[in-house]
Amino acid sequence: MIIVTRNSVTGTEQQQVIELLQRLAGSQRPISAITMQERGVITIDGNVLDAQAQAALSLHSAVERIVSTGTPYQLVSRAFQSEDSIVAVGDLPGSQPVTIGGSAPVVIAGPCAVESREQLMEIARAVKDAGAQVLRGGAFKPRTSPYQFQGLGIEGLQLLAEAREETGLPVITEVMEPEMVDVVAQYADVLQIGSRNMQNFPLLRAAGSHPSRRPVMLKRGLASTIDEWLLAAEYIVAAGNPNVILCERGIRSFDTHTRNLLDLACVPLLHELTHLPVIVDPSHATGRRELVPTMSRAAIAAGAHGLILETHTDPNSALCDGRQSITPAQLRTIMQETRLVAQIMSDAAVLDYVA
Ligand code: PEP
Ligand code: MN
Repeated sequence: MIIVTRNSVTGTEQQQVIELLQRLAGSQRPISAITMQERGVITIDGNVLDAQAQAALSLHSAVERIVSTGTPYQLVSRAFQSEDSIVAVGDLPGSQPVTIGGSAPVVIAGPCAVESREQLMEIARAVKDAGAQVLRGGAFKPRTSPYQFQGLGIEGLQLLAEAREETGLPVITEVMEPEMVDVVAQYADVLQIGSRNMQNFPLLRAAGSHPSRRPVMLKRGLASTIDEWLLAAEYIVAAGNPNVILCERGIRSFDTHTRNLLDLACVPLLHELTHLPVIVDPSHATGRRELVPTMSRAAIAAGAHGLILETHTDPNSALCDGRQSITPAQLRTIMQETRLVAQIMSDAAVLDYVA
């Protein structure tokens, strides 16, 4: 349950509302209060107030509205915000900003891992040339084996900043530890929280409370339910950062033909449940480059706000995930197809409306 207070309320009035809520709901329940778009937002787990208690609370002059979400997640729910969130990406100097969540799909492309200056610059120029709007590249790599390439670390972040300077592409890179949020936010336009860390709660809190309010792309956990994923997103928003983008990257399954099972049904489902933008990662979802174009088209047709595509100028010698990496030429084709499919989808929406 969410209580939104008027935007002119004083700290004292806000405190009065919290105390009244504590009394009405029973004082044991934890209550959190944050400011969102200049409004105080008070949240409590569950729909704890009956109609009478809600009426009593709404009598307080500081209360603007009370929202019963009916779901364990609150601030990310559609019940709380009916309009789609649009996340602005690219607030670091040198970035050409883009928005994720609107009707035009955004394509993020680049290597799985930053391997060297030469490799990153070559790929950055190529993906820019192919029409991608954001550059990806892992500096800190979560690898299954400790013997695999772990990324260049801080040097990788510096190279990403150089690539942004040259191409104007905002950059996204993974942050794996709460202590590293600050340094990654100095270099990256978007913080990526990877699948393996989706429920790393200290990391979610650190990314949510960082003063930069840098957008966070939250990848779905390897075997996470949609509710677990949305609750993980809730951690970030409840910590003060509303700029969250969800990324479906496939979930564990029994079949070994693909690396993961791409759950495209989650895209329209998420649009019902949440106002957050949703993008799809067909690279990690399939693990096979030949499936990436088809699943990219399917993702846009399912309503994704964008794609993240591992792209390499020499996939066969990539230090990480070469098997699923497309070439810049393939990216160029996917960009054209993405625009076409998005166009068809918006024409279809108009036809629906007319009918
Ligand atoms: C990645 O995008 O580089 C990555 C490691 O993906 P995931 O967390 O989805 O496995
Ligand atoms: Mn990868």
